Amino acid sequence: MSIENNVNILLIEDEEDIRESYVDMLGFLNLSADTAGNGLEGLKMLEQQHYDIVITDLNMPEIDGMETLRRIKKKNAEIEVIVITGFATIENAISAMKQGAFDYITKPVSLEHVKIVLNKCIQKILANRENKELRDSNTQLIEINDLKNKFITITNHELRTPLAVLRGYFDLLEMEIDTDAGEEISEYYSIINNTLNEMMSMIDNMHDLSSLKNFVSTQQKNLFDINDLMNDVYRENKIFFEKRNLDLIMNNNSGPLYVRVDRKMLHKAVRELVQNALKYTKEGTVTLAVKDVENRNQVFITVSDTGIGIPPDKLDLIFEPFYEVQDVLHHSTSRTDFMGGGIGVGLSLVNEIIEFNDGEIAVESVHGKGSTFTIILPKAKKE
Ligand code: ADP
Repeated sequence: MSIENNVNILLIEDEEDIRESYVDMLGFLNLSADTAGNGLEGLKMLEQQHYDIVITDLNMPEIDGMETLRRIKKKNAEIEVIVITGFATIENAISAMKQGAFDYITKPVSLEHVKIVLNKCIQKILANRENKELRDSNTQLIEINDLKNKFITITNHELRTPLAVLRGYFDLLEMEIDTDAGEEISEYYSIINNTLNEMMSMIDNMHDLSSLKNFVSTQQKNLFDINDLMNDVYRENKIFFEKRNLDLIMNNNSGPLYVRVDRKMLHKAVRELVQNALKYTKEGTVTLAVKDVENRNQVFITVSDTGIGIPPDKLDLIFEPFYEVQDVLHHSTSRTDFMGGGIGVGLSLVNEIIEFNDGEIAVESVHGKGSTFTIILPKAKKE
């Protein structure tokens, strides 16, 4: 057994004196080994304990080193076997290598040679172990990811159905109700309506994220002026900012700027950024801007806020599905409230959408002061 590396070594040699001299040599190298006096004894020990390396003499009575090697490799091909052979019988060493031996050491055995061969062998074993650990944890990660996707798909489906029923009956109820049912009733209706919409939109996001691959196959490339899309997002969100006494400003002082991307997808991505800006800003301004970066043939879309900001060490994590910087218990119910509801999938969806449209997303933030999210897209030419 190696003291430093936890590598188990078995030494098979029939002559006791020689065996002991090899053990001494290993001792010099700070290695130790269990010993066996012949091939059969060695094979028996291998049945009882795991060895990483077997060092065996080739020339032994009963079953010789070559047969021992064959049986070891049959039992477990991962065990590394180093054979020791006389210089005159070097061809035996070569056929041992062909049978899977790691290397051979010629007699008279020198400490230097043993050191080189064993070092190489131990390095190989340690590298294999590391690879195996990596492979195992990779397989585990893939399994966990599959489970997560399955969980999302099932939860999504199970939530979508009852929610659709609720939506349907709620709409029916709304048609049945007296038109002058009173302010209080209208208020209740509007709350239920908004909550249903929010739940629908959360479920849609979860669905889109889990089935983005299908999303891609239905992806459409549209040529359009990015300013039009930004104006649409501005118009549909303005009301939520007014309700929270926040300013939403649109800075589009460039002329028409064309991009060729899936318009519906990009709309969703920009809307997510704007809604996040709303959600994580208590007071101040959210600014939407479009910039023509002529020398790079790119279009920059920025959403800046004067909100809570993001700690520097969390900037990469926020794009991970279900990651939220703040404690989830801080969520209030509505997505349009300060620190309102969410499930941490918005930004991962934005990230996927932008990647699928050959763009990039960047974020700059000062914790406590505000954040700027930038979507970078290739500029297109109007035909
Ligand atoms: P959520 O539904 O929780 O908003 P997202 O994926 O959209 O999920 O965002 C992930 C996390 O990134 C959020 O929980 C929040 O902590 C942080 N974050 C996103 N946008 C902003 C922003 N504009 N300002 C501050 N923090 C933000």
